[in-house]
Amino acid sequence: QKTSPAQAEFYQAVEEVLDSLQPILETNEKYQKHAIIERMVEPERQIMFRVPWVDDQGNVQVNKGYRIEFNSALGPYKGGLRFHPSVNAGIIKFLGFEQIFKNALTGLPIGGGKGGANFDPKGKSDGEIMRFCQSFINELYRHIGPTTDVPAGDIGVGAREIGYMFGQYKRLTGNYDGVFTGKSLLWGGSLVRKEATGYGCVYFAQYMLEAKGDTLAGKRCLVSGAGNVAIYTIEKLYQLGAVPVTCSDSSGTVYHETGINLDTLKELKEVRKVRLNEYVAAHPEAKFIPAADYPADGNAVWRIPAQLAFPCATQNELSEADAKALVANGVIGVSEGANMPSTQDAVEVFLDAKISYGPGKAANAGGVATSQLEMAQNASMQRWSFEEVDEKLKVIMKNIFLNASETAAEFGEPHNLVLGANIAGFRKVADAMIEQGVV
Ligand code: NDP
Repeated sequence: QKTSPAQAEFYQAVEEVLDSLQPILETNEKYQKHAIIERMVEPERQIMFRVPWVDDQGNVQVNKGYRIEFNSALGPYKGGLRFHPSVNAGIIKFLGFEQIFKNALTGLPIGGGKGGANFDPKGKSDGEIMRFCQSFINELYRHIGPTTDVPAGDIGVGAREIGYMFGQYKRLTGNYDGVFTGKSLLWGGSLVRKEATGYGCVYFAQYMLEAKGDTLAGKRCLVSGAGNVAIYTIEKLYQLGAVPVTCSDSSGTVYHETGINLDTLKELKEVRKVRLNEYVAAHPEAKFIPAADYPADGNAVWRIPAQLAFPCATQNELSEADAKALVANGVIGVSEGANMPSTQDAVEVFLDAKISYGPGKAANAGGVATSQLEMAQNASMQRWSFEEVDEKLKVIMKNIFLNASETAAEFGEPHNLVLGANIAGFRKVADAMIEQGVV
């Protein structure tokens, strides 16, 4: 029942999952008897709060903060915080819902949650970001803890913001504990966490290709986004011999025929934090397509011929028309670094074309999995090497791929990783909920 029409993305995510679950729901009475679906779509707890802060001109600004503690059947709530002007209750709810299944798929003991604020970090000074983060934590600190709810980063939240939030949490509670992941390497962060979502999304593509006797070597790849996930997707693609030819931000798309220059991209986005149109100043042979020139029915990045696509920006950034263009141009695989980047119609196009399609909740789970490895290191007061964490990440991504593909085969649709990922994640959470009683 859609009781809140404003929550379009949440209903989109729920519909996709419920569609996939039909075969298991029809054959298992226990899920109905225990009202598993009714309980699963209702968050255990939703917190909405006022975030007042003072800007550099001395004016008071007010934003809206959220944390949704969706499901704790498998462990403490775990999921990122997003700071972006488009954030609203429906966006956080869809992200939290997806997180439940993603976290279950990792095989690690973590429940699902998500949060954020409709705060726009663009153009804000360091002092403004710090004051906003401190105010956000003045409310959130009472709801989180290393064994209850452990936030991380997402769009607009990286190591700097996590630092300011942790500092305020420590000041209010007096506790120095692993309440956040994605921390700086200087004080409790894990090696590979920064790279994990992008690397994991490429490992997932590698396993999808391997299953068909193919490899990443020499493949032309489209990547959208120019943030944390996109940058480390591009880095790993190069390491495995592929050629990423695009990246994008909300101002437009860069197409660099011979391959995106990773050093330039990092300099622009990680150091100078500027728009992508500056890329062509350093590389005049590359082309910049401004967002104003995108086709009316989609996104220019998906109209460039390539063999693989990695949507790494945001939700619903790949339309049905984009999916048709990708398939017509001969794409053989799509691995989603972002959460729900393909519209439901676009997903149908990929499934009908029987290309390798890794949905976000499986393909981008490397980030949260490595966050859990950060929690494990914090709790045991250990620090693992880069190679050790990377190796664990690879194994986790392989297991997610095998779990999703074997479950898809069990239900008679071996190529359908959407079905496989949803059923595999659901089964774990649902069975845990039944064993824990009516709570
Ligand atoms: P960042 O903030 O580092 O980067 C986001 C990128 O996407 C930027 O290039 C941004 O461009 C672009 N973008 C964001 N919103 C829009 C929009 N509405 N229209 C066009 N472009 C947009 O975030 P992340 O890289 O961390 O996150 C990217 C995606 O990956 C999100 O869907 C996130 O939920 C998902 N994800 C992230 C994980 C992580 O570990 N960080 C883990 C799992 C999933 P601009 O700056 O111009 O807005």
